[in-house]
Amino acid sequence: MKQFDTLFLDRDGVLNKKIENGYVLDPDQIEIIAGIKEFLQIAKNHFRRIVVVTNQRCVGLGRLPLEKLVKINNTINVLTGSFIDQFYICPHLDEDNCSCRKPKTGLFLNAQKDYNVDFTESWMIGDSETDMIPAKQLQIFSLFLSNKGSSYADKNFKSFDELGPILQE
Ligand SMILES: [Mg+2]
Repeated sequence: MKQFDTLFLDRDGVLNKKIENGYVLDPDQIEIIAGIKEFLQIAKNHFRRIVVVTNQRCVGLGRLPLEKLVKINNTINVLTGSFIDQFYICPHLDEDNCSCRKPKTGLFLNAQKDYNVDFTESWMIGDSETDMIPAKQLQIFSLFLSNKGSSYADKNFKSFDELGPILQE
């Protein structure tokens, strides 16, 4: 069986549907992406850990208290099968000039500190270029979930049904 180190996942657009021009501000608004639970079920056998790296500027904007974000993240974890070991959150705005807001690498480096992650044996799945850029920089295998395709990505795919077989082949 193929064994990898860490599976990094973006949250909105990967685990749950993105809310256009808005934010997930309540657990009731969570809609899970088709096929993610089945994919994570397979992935948990191929990765040492599964972590989420997510920008949540709604916290910095004062739209969502951190405790409620944690509650939303916990609900997303349960709804996708409870396979996620850790959520790494950037609550900042661009103007905060933090080191964690993607496309910066801070969230990934925090995970590396906690788990001694081997980036070259890890995957990042995202639906934005801002997910692919830090992955590329850290030499994480980058997978772009979209109909458009990303020039930064190592692999472009359209649905999670395509990914399970890649791990199992
Ligand atoms: Mg996203």
